Amino acid sequence: MTTPTAKRLGHRSERAATMKIDGFRGRLIRADHTDYDTARAVWNGAVDRRPHVIARCIGTADVVAAVRFARDHDLEIAIRGGGHNVAGTAVCDDGIVIDLSAMRAVRVDPADRRAWVQGGALWGDVDHETQAHGLATTGGIVSHTGVAGLTLGGGVGWLMRKHGLTVDNLLAADIVTADGERLRASEDEHPDLFWALRGGGGNFGVVTSFEFRLHPIGPTVLAGPILWGATDSGEVLRFYRDFVREAPIELGTVVRFGTAPPIPAIPEDLHWRPVMIVGTCYAGPIEDGERALRPLRAFRTPLLDLVGPKPYVGFQSALDSTVVHGWNYYWKSTHLPELSDDLIGVIADHAFSCSSPRSYVAMFHLKGAVSRVAEGGTAFGNRQASHAITLDGAWRPGEDFGDRDTAWARGFFAALGRFREGVYVNFLGGDEDPDRVREAYGASVYARLVDVKTKYDPDNVFHHNQNIRPRVE
Ligand SMILES: Cc1cc2nc3c(=O)[nH]c(=O)nc-3n(C[C@H](O)[C@H](O)[C@H](O)COP(=O)(O)OP(=O)(O)OC[C@H]3O[C@@H](n4cnc5c(N)ncnc54)[C@H](O)[C@@H]3O)c2cc1C
Repeated sequence: MTTPTAKRLGHRSERAATMKIDGFRGRLIRADHTDYDTARAVWNGAVDRRPHVIARCIGTADVVAAVRFARDHDLEIAIRGGGHNVAGTAVCDDGIVIDLSAMRAVRVDPADRRAWVQGGALWGDVDHETQAHGLATTGGIVSHTGVAGLTLGGGVGWLMRKHGLTVDNLLAADIVTADGERLRASEDEHPDLFWALRGGGGNFGVVTSFEFRLHPIGPTVLAGPILWGATDSGEVLRFYRDFVREAPIELGTVVRFGTAPPIPAIPEDLHWRPVMIVGTCYAGPIEDGERALRPLRAFRTPLLDLVGPKPYVGFQSALDSTVVHGWNYYWKSTHLPELSDDLIGVIADHAFSCSSPRSYVAMFHLKGAVSRVAEGGTAFGNRQASHAITLDGAWRPGEDFGDRDTAWARGFFAALGRFREGVYVNFLGGDEDPDRVREAYGASVYARLVDVKTKYDPDNVFHHNQNIRPRVE
């Protein structure tokens, strides 16, 4: 219900949003602007929010000006990095979007193996620049995902078992706080804030740039998917469980259950056929990868085996066309322990019963370097879990799979109930119980995050996110 006060505030904030922002040099995009609908759209087409203004920043000074303006005029703030989050928190109704999508620069120091990345960059930008030097850091497995949101939540990807989560490779971040102050956070500067930024999401300010540690990768790596028919999935999963338990940490795998996507690499007769895919990427010498993958590739004669040497930067965008901007998405997610026969039974029973041919399940194998960092070493929770699974309803605008695949994801999630071991905060959807944010961190990490939030954002200015509420003194 809209109260008279909220109504008054709404009118006031609407008026404020038509004003000029002192010291702002980027673009202000309002509802009457021809780019408004494109600028407010996020990756998830099911999210339809109408901010008063989108402040597309071109530098840190713009971010400072936008934060101060929003605070002075009581405007709701959403922060947009890559705009990829399934919950759509990058855009708000009314209020202001502090949009970093024009800040995508990446600078690499190959001698020192470091990269400086602006807060609106996508992973494709980072891989492109770092791979020019045969370097990389752990990033997402879809190249159009934003660096900022992914990093601030933790960052899982092909390289994590060898090189750690994205946050384990974060060396420093430049941030604009709720007071419009610029701070640099690192092990030596505001270490409490630096700890919180490594998993605590966009709760502490607007990050304008990140500094990452890089590692020699490729540029050619052994990588690719192996496909089996859906009816074999229980048996293949049991083999996979034993295989990954012993696999070297260089081997990153993500299992995908769904239909075979109609991409050029997959022969047409397999397109749309229900399959279990094990995606692989080996972060080490090709010959070692060949040896490590041999048993998996030989199991039960796969329908298709596309593992081979390929450019890492190309592999990083191989899935892009399977998760297109503007389709509708509904996700449920949880971390899982090692796959027991029981758990495999639940997965095999539900994974293929969605309706939309575009819906899928993705299951990342964690462990390795992820679980070697002590719990609480950064703000990423549940480091001992074995897998992060997302149950992803996906359908195109105008298709009527939405209700059925939302019910499918919820039903599958409920069936996983007794196996749940926390959750990755970046895989949480927009309709989750607030307790799930606590679940993402566990009690002690969450309590520490509340301390840092209370210190740096006591008024909860940055709350349009998976919110950590400050303590009310
Ligand atoms: C298709 C797909 C594939 C994915 N694959 C992976 C994967 O492989 N690995 C993985 O770890 N995750 C993955 N994710 C999840 C991903 O980490 C989150 O969606 C993440 O939020 C995306 O970052 P973004 O910058 O695009 O987010 P946005 O939607 O722009 O922002 C989400 C939130 O992040 C915060 N935020 C964004 N930018 C800033 C900033 N500059 N400063 C402060 N806060 C900011 C804000 O709170 C904002 O509400 C995937 C998501 C999708 C949709």
